[in-house]
Amino acid sequence: MILERRDIRLVKRTFWLIRHRWIAIGGVIAAILLTKYVFKVELQDLALYSVALLLIVENIISFLWMKYILKCCPENISKTVKFNIHFQISIDLIALTLLLHYAGGIGNPMFLIYLFHMVIASILLSKTGTYIQTTFALLLFGLMVYFEYTGVIEHYCLCKENYTNLYLYLDDNYILRTFSVFVFASYVLVYLASSIGERLRNQEDGLTKALDKLNIQDEIKNEYVLRVTHDIKGNLAAIQTNLAVLTQKIMGPIDPKQEEFLNRAYIRTIKLTKFVKNLLRLTRLRLDEEFDMEFFSVSAVIQSAISSAQANADEKSIDLIYKLDDKIGNITGNKLSIEEIITNLLLNAVKYTNKNGFVKVNTIDNIDHILIEVEDNGLGIPGDELSEVFEEFYRGSNVKNIEEDSTGIGLSLVKKIVDRHHGEIWVESELGKGSKFCITLPKNLSVN
Ligand code: ADP
Repeated sequence: MILERRDIRLVKRTFWLIRHRWIAIGGVIAAILLTKYVFKVELQDLALYSVALLLIVENIISFLWMKYILKCCPENISKTVKFNIHFQISIDLIALTLLLHYAGGIGNPMFLIYLFHMVIASILLSKTGTYIQTTFALLLFGLMVYFEYTGVIEHYCLCKENYTNLYLYLDDNYILRTFSVFVFASYVLVYLASSIGERLRNQEDGLTKALDKLNIQDEIKNEYVLRVTHDIKGNLAAIQTNLAVLTQKIMGPIDPKQEEFLNRAYIRTIKLTKFVKNLLRLTRLRLDEEFDMEFFSVSAVIQSAISSAQANADEKSIDLIYKLDDKIGNITGNKLSIEEIITNLLLNAVKYTNKNGFVKVNTIDNIDHILIEVEDNGLGIPGDELSEVFEEFYRGSNVKNIEEDSTGIGLSLVKKIVDRHHGEIWVESELGKGSKFCITLPKNLSVN
């Protein structure tokens, strides 16, 4: 069963709350130690540590409960998760009240921490749920103060010698003032926070719906492009074969003028076929085409890519140097795609390097991933365009007039394949001096 985005958000935030509670528990223990050993204030430490223990147990239960909800009953998940959140906040409030009771009651300004819980409730719960938790917090606080005042429960002073406000918990004037201001502030805070929270939730839902719509439209567009390019590719292949027959003069001699035109048409068809093939491949990747996984030797793949680029390099007297790390063994991935991306980077390096330049391939084995670098001393990429290099149809402003045979699809294809392998790709370049494309690929992965 697939969870709705709203439910995923709620689940993530609940785990966020659980994670942050560990920090809060650490804070409570640190505060106890600090108060006792640094400020030398007498404390009910056993009772306070027990409350910290209660919070630890609560956090473990909440975590296991969430795991259980996710595993067993994803239907109606938001209701069960909200129930879990109510449990967490209620126990937090009880724990906070106990902490306050054992550490000075209303005389301890720590009662302001109730406000944190109210804000958290307004982020995670509905308006009604937030008001219920706020009222519960105020009730707990009010009862504690009242029982300490009437002597039903003992009051534990958080005080040192010479402390002047020993009897604040018996001062009805102070109690009434503090409590009424706190109640007023709590409800105003909850009203503001839950209104803002609700508005943000609605906006988030609106954005999520718009994104879903865009994704659907994008998929329709991709399917359309896939169908059209597929048809074009078939027809182009037929045209290319016919032109090949004519240019090779299999059907008989042709005059030089006709041959020149046919050759031009033939070269253009080859370029167009390459473009259409890349477009088709990119669209398939966008549509999450399945990848076959295999365990293969990286060195072998790099060597094969180097042989594919060698002829182009020789044509321009470019030195194709490679240094393969001996330690590099096998990795898991889609062999053909990895070879394709290295060949692509090499052909680009050769294409964008002047005659007599160099192209270097370097590999480094880094425990859990490998690093492949393809470096050249060619034209480079303008600094302000570096962030666009992997975007579809990007063509450098410095090469547009020089290189006609350029489509701007290759690098976006490379990036998509690296992403599908959970790897990373980046480029370092200086205009007029050269470029270095770096790829990291995890050694073991499951491609999805
Ligand atoms: P294409 O080479 O067909 O234009 P790519 O997507 O492979 O498509 O490259 C996009 C652009 O990135 C190129 O047009 C070029 O401006 C720039 N580029 C790619 N590789 C290099 C390189 N090694 N040196 C300089 N510029 C490069």
